[in-house]
Amino acid sequence: MTAPTVDPPLSPVREGLDGPGLALDLDRVAPILEGDDLRRQLEVTALRKRFPALARRVNGQRLVYLDTAATALKLDGVIDAQADHYRSSGANAHRGMHRLADEATTAYEQARERVARWVGAARAEDVVFARSTTAALNLVARGMEPRLRTGDEVLLTEMEHHANLVPWIQLAERTGIVLRHIPVTAAGELELDGLDTLLTPRTRIVSLTYVSNVLGTINPVAAIAEAAHRHGALVVVDAAQAVGHLPVDLAALGADLLVFSAHKAYGPMGLGFLVGTEAALDQLEPLEGGGQMIREVHLDRATWAEPPLRFEAGTPDVAAATSFVAAIELLDQLGLDRVQAHDQALTGYAIDRLAAVDGLRLLGPADPTRRGGLVSFVHPRIHPHDLATILDEQGVAVRAGHHCAQPLHRRLGLSASTRASFGIYSDRDDLDALVAGLGLAHRFFA
Ligand code: PMP
Repeated sequence: MTAPTVDPPLSPVREGLDGPGLALDLDRVAPILEGDDLRRQLEVTALRKRFPALARRVNGQRLVYLDTAATALKLDGVIDAQADHYRSSGANAHRGMHRLADEATTAYEQARERVARWVGAARAEDVVFARSTTAALNLVARGMEPRLRTGDEVLLTEMEHHANLVPWIQLAERTGIVLRHIPVTAAGELELDGLDTLLTPRTRIVSLTYVSNVLGTINPVAAIAEAAHRHGALVVVDAAQAVGHLPVDLAALGADLLVFSAHKAYGPMGLGFLVGTEAALDQLEPLEGGGQMIREVHLDRATWAEPPLRFEAGTPDVAAATSFVAAIELLDQLGLDRVQAHDQALTGYAIDRLAAVDGLRLLGPADPTRRGGLVSFVHPRIHPHDLATILDEQGVAVRAGHHCAQPLHRRLGLSASTRASFGIYSDRDDLDALVAGLGLAHRFFA
């Protein structure tokens, strides 16, 4: 299971980092972009025009946005669709017998249907609109509470985002369930040799990330799901860093439940998804009560609607849901396999250039084909926050900190790292700007 890391041995600062011209080392880059990869390149120059925020200048420099893993920039079609909804009606879905309400309901349900097709759900009803990945994971953890007993086990991994740790910790505090974790190797992959021991007759749920938001590692979810199912466990996949970057298909993954956020896939904030099999969704109790999620209400009792409405109490974000379709259409038009190849080419290029920076420790697998579109790294002398501040002065936006993955950082012997993450608008110029910014930081702190 282990792949070589890009950890030191340390290499000297290469020409191009400290030197003035920052010339590309084409000999090292070319192999990454040859053949199929080259043919599968996205038309980034054209795509960039679709993201209005990229027209900004930051600190007098062109914006180099390398923080897509935190949130992607928003597509023009998404922004327009939101504005159109509010301009043309702003009506609520499912709550009126007039034309505007009817249109809103149709558009909202069409968006549900589009998402279902996009991520391989069997039926539109298997898609629940939520506020975010975080909200969807809370819904799952709380929704399973009545079915869990003290001593039941939930298996997670050491590389989870806090969103897939804290709801289970809260659940454990309330119910006495036991949390177990698949360890992470020094190479930044899941240590799966002990999986059969971690899965026990008491394992009820296995919940894990598809792509690590720190290491970039793409986990072998289908194989883990198969093992989990042999033990009768429910499989929950956090696809926050996968959706919009690679093809994601509920059935192909063998997942029972899949969660993700629209804002990381060029869509609006305030919109997330819980997608599942009918059987899995049926097991969940609703987390929130209120309008629309009921079948019948009396003063002292109520019964619930079937999923998905059971989980959608209150007024939904119709503008957000309907606008996300524009992002899905674009990603499908580009082809998610090409988007993934683009991510991989950029990741390979980033690893190659960053590994040449003196003492820089890169996190995660060395092989870009095992990774999503991000690279985290640690400078031997410069704190990630200082690094991010200096990069920001150059117009380069990166994330610095623990990236909501404190246990993983602790496991790696770190408290923080700097992360550069890519989108369909990213190109090698962005990474060259990052490396140039690192060169400046280097001189500043030398
Ligand atoms: N899981 C992973 C792997 C993530 O990267 C993130 C966002 N950083 C989340 C969950 C939480 O997503 P949101 O903030 O949209 O709820």
